[in-house]
Amino acid sequence: MKNLSPAFPMNPSTTRNCCGYCGATSYHRVVARDEMGAMRYTDTLQCSGCSREFANLDIWRQGGAQMPTHPPVVSAPAH
Ligand SMILES: [Zn+2]
Repeated sequence: MKNLSPAFPMNPSTTRNCCGYCGATSYHRVVARDEMGAMRYTDTLQCSGCSREFANLDIWRQGGAQMPTHPPVVSAPAH
């Protein structure tokens, strides 16, 4: 009897794990010195490929928070 349930969920947009800019598959956390003078990991990620910094993993995958600069403008017809 066949098991028809898929082994992997059909969710390709979230399985991709590489930089949206350069395609690098690795990154590292940015280390910064806090007010106590201790080196701490921050939440910021830096791509190993293009050295861009990203606020989180989703943004890294998407290639940054560069949303389309043209919002859908609904221009009402002038009467
Ligand atoms: Zn990159």
